[in-house]
Amino acid sequence: MPANRSVDVVVIGGGFAGLTAARDLQQRGLAVLVLEARDRLGGRTWSADRNGFHVELGGTWIHWTQPFVWAEKERYGLEIQETPGCVADRVVIKIDGVIRDLREDQLGEFVSGFEHFFAEAKAVWERPYDSQHSWELIKERDPLTVADRLAALDLTPLQRTSIGGFLEILSMNQPENASYVEMMRCWSLTGWSYELFNDTAARYKFTHGTGALVQAMASDGGFAVELNQEVMSVQQSAEGVTVTTAAGDAISAKRAVVTVPLNVMHRVAFDPPLEELKLEASRLKHVGGGAKVFFEVEGDPGAVMTLARSTESPLIGSFTYQRGEQHSVLAGFSLEPDALERSVADWQPVLEEFVPGIRLRSTFGHDWGGDALSQGSWCTYRPGTLTRFSDALPRQEGHLFFASGDHGEGWRGFIEGAIASGSRTAVAVWRSLLPSRTA
Ligand SMILES: Cc1cc2nc3c(=O)[nH]c(=O)nc-3n(C[C@H](O)[C@H](O)[C@H](O)COP(=O)(O)OP(=O)(O)OC[C@H]3O[C@@H](n4cnc5c(N)ncnc54)[C@H](O)[C@@H]3O)c2cc1C
Repeated sequence: MPANRSVDVVVIGGGFAGLTAARDLQQRGLAVLVLEARDRLGGRTWSADRNGFHVELGGTWIHWTQPFVWAEKERYGLEIQETPGCVADRVVIKIDGVIRDLREDQLGEFVSGFEHFFAEAKAVWERPYDSQHSWELIKERDPLTVADRLAALDLTPLQRTSIGGFLEILSMNQPENASYVEMMRCWSLTGWSYELFNDTAARYKFTHGTGALVQAMASDGGFAVELNQEVMSVQQSAEGVTVTTAAGDAISAKRAVVTVPLNVMHRVAFDPPLEELKLEASRLKHVGGGAKVFFEVEGDPGAVMTLARSTESPLIGSFTYQRGEQHSVLAGFSLEPDALERSVADWQPVLEEFVPGIRLRSTFGHDWGGDALSQGSWCTYRPGTLTRFSDALPRQEGHLFFASGDHGEGWRGFIEGAIASGSRTAVAVWRSLLPSRTA
């Protein structure tokens, strides 16, 4: 293609939000071009082969409580497989410095802790796709952190550790930084049930990786894609937009769909500038940080799950990801800033504390926080974000439309949220073009 060209819709970013919007718009008869800064599609999902294992360095688990992604799985006939450690034979928890196996007779105490913590969720998020429905209740609680809620409850040490550890993983930050209302939203989306909450978090993944869905959407969609094309600026005029890339290419389009992650959106120069609330939210950033660290171990450790608070261990949770006779891999989560730089010798005693005799061979992962094109992992709102920014983030500005897993109703922060947002945005863009197309 020549350096200066024209399409109906330019989509900035080729993660699931962008891919969905591009496919749906191209299939409605529009000429769509996806500009992606990376050398691959998929964004914060990344299926890769590492040390003989097929792993997901980013987004992984899906569930039928997530209607859009499940529809894609069904539509393209993609297989799923179970994650052994999510339905573990052994759950090992570090409570007040002591490592214990969760016993059968403690399961009731464990689950009732979650029910206690989320006791208000049914009222606060009676309709988790419609925050307006119970806006007053949500607004009242939006300033609260997970730590505030923990402090207000009379929980047993087992409950405090299991909820605290689980929610540190779900939010990828300490309880002091994560929004209580947002955690309640996830609990409500899984039918106020611990079993569905746990299974949705980490039970089912694509057998051939999220890459299989990326591939299916890209080939079915038939839209044009250009990789290694970082968009530096977006200029609006009465007719449409002109997008300029780092390579100096200028693409004009009737509409643009902006899908760059919230944490990096402020780095693109918009003319006229984006509304101040969007920019403020982007500069402030969401607090989803931490690291997903894979541990390659010798032999088969069995189906194990570990859980701890970040104040007690650099490993807040881990579970068996793939089992093999010669070697297996565990997926772990850490809030330590240098988690991916730590050596095998550093991690060996940490892991061995939970699983005695385990032998660590290697560790690997991707630093999403240090990645200039994401600047964070999955989206977790700070307390107060919902009330202040949730209306502004997806709001159309002239010829610009915004789609992302980082905003919107329902499953924001997940693959599901990205697909839902891309799908909804595609319809909005198409509608906005109807009068000029029929004229
Ligand atoms: C470690 C990790 C684990 C996760 N686990 C799960 C999970 O198990 N289940 C789940 O549902 N979700 C999970 N998530 C979240 C999920 O991956 C994301 O919510 C979802 O993929 C976001 O999709 P998106 O299209 O909104 O954004 P992205 O996937 O980030 O896509 C945005 C794209 O824009 C590109 N871009 C950025 N700037 C520019 C620019 N200037 N010009 C051009 N392109 C640009 C980026 O390179 C990227 O490809 C996880 C995420 C991480 C990081």
